[in-house]
Amino acid sequence: MKGIFPVQAFREQRTPFYYYDTTLLRQTLKAISDAVSCHPNYSVHYAIKANANPKILNIICQAGFGADCVSGGEIQRCIDNGFSPKKIVYAGVGKSDWEINLGLDRNIFCFNVESIAELEVINELAAAKGKTARVCLRINPDVGAHTHANITTGLAENKFGIAMSDMDEAIARAQEMTNIEFIGLHFHIGSQILNMDDFAALCNRINELQNHLDRNRISVKHINVGGGLGIDYNHPNRVPIPDFKAYFNTFAKLLKLREGQILHFELGRAVVAQCGSLITKVLYVKQGTAKQFAIVDAGMTDLIRPALYQAYHKIENITSEEGKQTYDVVGPICESSDVFAKAIDLNATHRGDLLAIRSAGAYGEIMASRYNCRPMPTGYTTEELE
Ligand SMILES: *Cc1c(COP(=O)(O)O)cnc(C)c1O
Repeated sequence: MKGIFPVQAFREQRTPFYYYDTTLLRQTLKAISDAVSCHPNYSVHYAIKANANPKILNIICQAGFGADCVSGGEIQRCIDNGFSPKKIVYAGVGKSDWEINLGLDRNIFCFNVESIAELEVINELAAAKGKTARVCLRINPDVGAHTHANITTGLAENKFGIAMSDMDEAIARAQEMTNIEFIGLHFHIGSQILNMDDFAALCNRINELQNHLDRNRISVKHINVGGGLGIDYNHPNRVPIPDFKAYFNTFAKLLKLREGQILHFELGRAVVAQCGSLITKVLYVKQGTAKQFAIVDAGMTDLIRPALYQAYHKIENITSEEGKQTYDVVGPICESSDVFAKAIDLNATHRGDLLAIRSAGAYGEIMASRYNCRPMPTGYTTEELE
């Protein structure tokens, strides 16, 4: 499968850099569009925090997707790259006044509001502009996602959303506010979720909440179930595109929508993760007392997922066909957690070899930092390296 990389062109770039296979990205977007084509009331928003590279955003926006933002900077980035404000939803536990004002000025589709205190501020800021803010309330459904603890968001102990026990009060408050239009409910239970039972549990919870609203004669037009669909980090070649059909079918089968309701999704990782690889050069091979280290020029400043979430990324030596040897692949940053993989088998590696750290298109480039005064990695698309 090494043939998937333009190794010759890679040789001419300064490493490390991200490489985005835009053919795969387009195939992934088409798989999503095909899977939702039989559900005219489904609306998919790309969660831009996964990857906000303008070239990636352009492709996603041209495919007709909306955007899910979690900051004012993301709202600006989306609009700058062609997304219609009419398709922007905006969540976040701590929205600053300038961010709310930006959303109001741009007339974004909806604020996903995470507390009554925030609701009051949005109402005030909207009133000052003589506008009405469309609002979904983000409800914490207390549904566990069986994923890494740092990326669950829908448990009662998490900081996100409004507790179910406070929902009625929040709705009542929203409905009496003059510059708020309450239009729906929003949920998001976590990330890298591969077990459809977790989404099934979310559907069941939403059904209960909707029955409760029915009894109170409250109806909403919009239900937003967030994102979180995971990808196969172990098999980027065999499973390059997630099973979107199974994902959307889970909601189609289990979620009882009311007449005229629109169901929104906010997929990030599942859209962009598999199309991206971090390409890095081997600087040194060091024989430790018990181990062999491949020391590469990329570090946790370029891809922090292994250090932050103990995430696994498949690594391949794309310039060697030699027999396999076992290595710890480590970066140059002065942190013991700057390790991409421990005791993995690679084709025998030498100074100057290129390694591809796979499935790095989501939460990769966008989380890069300047720590150690490092330069930021560049991202190249297939078109740019042909
Ligand atoms: C991060 C986030 C998403 C996207 O999550 P993925 O796991 O990348 O699909 C969607 N909605 C909200 C509110 C988020 O914070």
